Amino acid sequence: MRNVNGKFGKFGGSYVPEMLVEPLKELEKQFLKYYKDEEFQKELAYYQKEYIGRKNPLYYAKNLTEYINGAKIYLKREDLNFTGAHKINNTIGQVLLAKRMGKKKIIAETGAGQHGVATATVCALFNMGCKIFMGEKDIKRQELNVFKMRLLGAEVIPATGGEKTLKDAVDEALMEYAKTYEDTFYLLGSVVGPHPYPLMVREFQSIIGKEAKEQILEKESKLPDYLIACVGGGSNAMGLFSEFIENKSVKMIGVEPAGLGLETGFHAATLTTGKVGIIHGFKCYNIQDENGDPLPVCSIAAGLDYPGVGPEHSYFKDTERVSYETATDDEAINAFKKLSELEGIIPAIESSHAIAYTMKFAKNLNKDKIVIINLSGRGDKDLYRMKEQLML
Ligand SMILES: *Cc1c(COP(=O)(O)O)cnc(C)c1O
Repeated sequence: MRNVNGKFGKFGGSYVPEMLVEPLKELEKQFLKYYKDEEFQKELAYYQKEYIGRKNPLYYAKNLTEYINGAKIYLKREDLNFTGAHKINNTIGQVLLAKRMGKKKIIAETGAGQHGVATATVCALFNMGCKIFMGEKDIKRQELNVFKMRLLGAEVIPATGGEKTLKDAVDEALMEYAKTYEDTFYLLGSVVGPHPYPLMVREFQSIIGKEAKEQILEKESKLPDYLIACVGGGSNAMGLFSEFIENKSVKMIGVEPAGLGLETGFHAATLTTGKVGIIHGFKCYNIQDENGDPLPVCSIAAGLDYPGVGPEHSYFKDTERVSYETATDDEAINAFKKLSELEGIIPAIESSHAIAYTMKFAKNLNKDKIVIINLSGRGDKDLYRMKEQLML
């Protein structure tokens, strides 16, 4: 396993209040112990298959390929997972670890509610107490996800500080964790946060790349030329990329949300425009003001709307192992429509950023080149918003 010490070059690490140092050390120790335990891996594989519904297809998108008229395009169908996105890969892994550690309760933070729902789902499954911290503003904006979480038995706690959004939910969840870690597990939703989260979440998401590699070798008898995924915190991208890092011939592209356009300042393109700093307990590129405080970010995709990004992505930017590009709101909306029309697959607006970039990029590639796009989620949650945008 790479980066067992939580360092990704100069990025990552753990910059947390004193009272969180011990609980995070314990978490690191238990993760490293159980992750190599055969029984744990067996149980994880069982739930990946029987509950999430893995393995999901690596689908040859013939119509999209013909439309783009360049490289051959495959879609890794994370949208077909139970609950409709890749997030459940991680919440299943972490809840199994929490159980082994003897924890009785789970806490998590959520912005748009996707991670909150994936967390509440596994808490229902394993009969764990569940508290989800969510900004008061986000609670109003995401009524349906809040209802889902409550229906699943979770307590949704409004964060009332600051801007009343994700950042404030993280702050309040961390405070609660510091008080209750004896019997409580903090379930983080992306490859961000202090060590060991970026490492742990990457490992639980790496099932995406493991399957994709096997599937493409079976279908094409060779490795892909490009992997393309959208990047918010970076977990679906890292889940796909991780398995191919040593395969130097495989190029990787992370697509960030350019919002209304990079030049407007209304975007969340952290790696493309950010500076190195510390946010939420780890070092990474982030969008901050002169005082190092996170600035508001903006994207039509709530799941990509985060002012930081995973430390390993920050490292891969500097070492140029991965290149980071962008797609605007408008380009993503257009890709959302195109994939629906061409393939009958309605993608999440987050995933639509990866499709949008591929539509720009893959037309200039030879027909023998192979591209795998990570289709991180389905678009059901975005239908109301897209109906307003597309006026169909
Ligand atoms: C949350 C989410 C993302 C962004 O998170 P990452 O950690 O960057 O993967 C992307 N796609 C979907 C469908 C999501 O729900």
